[in-house]
Amino acid sequence: MRMAGPPVLPPPRPVVDAAAEVAAVGKALAAVAADLDRRAAAASGEASEILEALAMMAGDPMLLEEAEQRAEAGADAAHALDGAFAGHREALAALGGYLAERAADLDDLRHRAVAYALDLPMPGLPDPGHPYVLAAADLSPADTAGLGPDVLALITERGGPTSHTAILARGRGLPAVVACAGVMDVPDGTVVGVDGGTGEITIGLTDEEAAAVGEGDRAERARLAASAGPGRTADGHPVKLLLNIGSAGDLRPGAEGVGLFRTEFLFLDRTGAPSFEEQVAAYAEVFEQAEEVIVRTLDAGTDKPLPFLGLPEEQNPALGVRGLRVDRLLPEVLDTQLDAIAEAARATGTQAWVMAPMVTTPAEAAGFARRARARGIAKVGAMVEVPAAALRAAALLREMDFLSIGTNDLAQYTFAADRQHPDLADLLDPGQPALLALVAMCAEAGRAAGKPVGVCGEAAGDPRLAPLLVGLGVTSLSMAPVSVPAVRTALAARTLAECADAARSALI
Ligand code: PEP
Ligand code: MG
Repeated sequence: MRMAGPPVLPPPRPVVDAAAEVAAVGKALAAVAADLDRRAAAASGEASEILEALAMMAGDPMLLEEAEQRAEAGADAAHALDGAFAGHREALAALGGYLAERAADLDDLRHRAVAYALDLPMPGLPDPGHPYVLAAADLSPADTAGLGPDVLALITERGGPTSHTAILARGRGLPAVVACAGVMDVPDGTVVGVDGGTGEITIGLTDEEAAAVGEGDRAERARLAASAGPGRTADGHPVKLLLNIGSAGDLRPGAEGVGLFRTEFLFLDRTGAPSFEEQVAAYAEVFEQAEEVIVRTLDAGTDKPLPFLGLPEEQNPALGVRGLRVDRLLPEVLDTQLDAIAEAARATGTQAWVMAPMVTTPAEAAGFARRARARGIAKVGAMVEVPAAALRAAALLREMDFLSIGTNDLAQYTFAADRQHPDLADLLDPGQPALLALVAMCAEAGRAAGKPVGVCGEAAGDPRLAPLLVGLGVTSLSMAPVSVPAVRTALAARTLAECADAARSALI
């Protein structure tokens, strides 16, 4: 099923029967409200309340009256609805505060009502009432985080393999193929096979073929699930296998801890700042269930906007105020988060490990470490995502207890290639010698300082690359839960010396 975009309003249509347009306006708003009511009844908790509130907005008699008046005055139904919504939007925006934030909800209702009046597919996530493969031009991380259990797999026209949409899908074990040109031309209802591992899509499967794909998938999952135990090379060299998670809901048994807790994923759809108490609860939920957890402080910016931060628009957001740099504008955000992490650790009796994203200089690392240590946080580290940080790894380790290499951003900044760009996947390949050389510098600095240096970018979960990273000297690999079995199996098949040989060849 395709996720349609907002309907494009055609030029106004000459109206011959104003009464028919008035009736069409009423029908469109009633249909939108009824659809939302149906979805509210099928959902539960907060989701249900939100849908109910939206249904009430669509059923607002003032909105109907205004749209009807416009239709009576000679507008066609789509334009009458569009005009009425625009008026309400302006009025809400003028009220400011919480009500102004609801203006975006009105846009969503406007798109639905206009699509209905024009007989176009409903914008937004399809809700056919049965499991389906979702095709979309693009999806934001917030959209992806909100996907329901009916979505079996994901195909997008845009995005790159390390874009956060792909990462969120992987985190949920959802097969996803990005940068698939033309997928929006595949008609709704076509049966497609999606292989998230190879990126292969098969269009127009018969029922038997679809059943065989499902069977193969189940057999592969069962084979991998049979692998267990800590990460080790064939000769017993230990390599911690850790999880990348966005919330406690992503935790799975079988790993040795959490190597990257992307805390910003908790708050992607928030318009108000999460409170201290709310943060303590979210972090404590993870600390209670996992042995060793590395919490990354909020990494906002570029494709992960956090609306509650209210950051200014930028010309070049990937090179702008993102990650730890947000602290320059809003120091209280990091202070509150560090307080909350420290409190959650105290309350659960855990030794929290904390790291900052997008650290660029040793001075930034020192400032972060001072503030974290002042709160009694046990271990403080930096992500290495910027080439400057890798080049100065030894200096960073004088300030920090550990480093964690984010190969997704490190590739983006090393190769000057947007990680969301659908046509640059080859340039972003972390197996290239330039990136591996930076990893080697960090690992060497870690060895010299006697401090751990892990990898938590998507490269760590690639069974082809994991042995190379271990050969370069990294001490842990952190990945989506779904990737752990294949990486464990890949390491167990090679000795440390074989990993080092492979790494040496890959560096040439
Ligand atoms: C990375 O950049 O490699 C990383 C792990 O962080 P994120 O993917 O969340 O930017
Ligand atoms: Mg990153």
